[in-house]
Amino acid sequence: MFVDSHCHLDFPDLAGREDAILAAMAEHRVGHALCVCVKVEDFPRVLALAERHAHLWASVGVHPDNAGVEEPDLARLLALADHARVVAIGETGLDYYWQKDAPEWQRERFRTHIRAARKCGKPLIIHTRSAADDTLRLMREEAAGEAGGVMHCFTESREVAEAALDLGFYISFSGIVTFKNATELKAVAQYVPLDRLLIETDAPYLAPVPHRGRTNEPAWVVHVAEEIARLRNEPLERIEIATTENFFRLFRHAQAH
Ligand SMILES: [Zn+2]
Ligand SMILES: [Zn+2]
Repeated sequence: MFVDSHCHLDFPDLAGREDAILAAMAEHRVGHALCVCVKVEDFPRVLALAERHAHLWASVGVHPDNAGVEEPDLARLLALADHARVVAIGETGLDYYWQKDAPEWQRERFRTHIRAARKCGKPLIIHTRSAADDTLRLMREEAAGEAGGVMHCFTESREVAEAALDLGFYISFSGIVTFKNATELKAVAQYVPLDRLLIETDAPYLAPVPHRGRTNEPAWVVHVAEEIARLRNEPLERIEIATTENFFRLFRHAQAH
């Protein structure tokens, strides 16, 4: 069984296609998927997915790209996270690619999420883009390692991976690792220890080869696993077992069944 550790099934491209998405998951032996929240306004829909389906899980958090949305304080985040189907805090982090002025509110928001994760004992889902130094700095300053978590849709250097691993974090690869020109990222996928690897789709975005350019879905996480197996010269089954075990070890509030 494979697990998609990060997808957005509530987004317009995928919402309303639940039955087909779940059927394709079953067909490809993708047993579970984690539906990741990007703003509090969307949380009821994300949670509803996890409440309707035993094989879907939810997170709660506000993505660093989202401006002008509800800004939950620590108490509000903790209240939202206090639910059996919510297994993680995020996605959170920093993104200076879209907000080149590197606004202070992104860092404040990130700190609040790290504090919430430490307090409720649920791990972090961290997004970082064009902001690796500040992301790692805040993770250290706020003792994010106490909560643990994953660097999702990893696209950074080997040095950044090493620093995140040192903090006890997992590294998750998306369909980007299957792209022909992702040479540096392929090398990182060879380097990350097997017991810290996760796989994800980030659906509806970033469909892996051979579906590149189409609307992504959790079933296609298998192609990410296939590419990692090829890069590491290991049997697919080994990647399948390791990434699934890693998922349930990290997101310990989710149960395999
Ligand atoms: Zn992200
Ligand atoms: Zn995402």
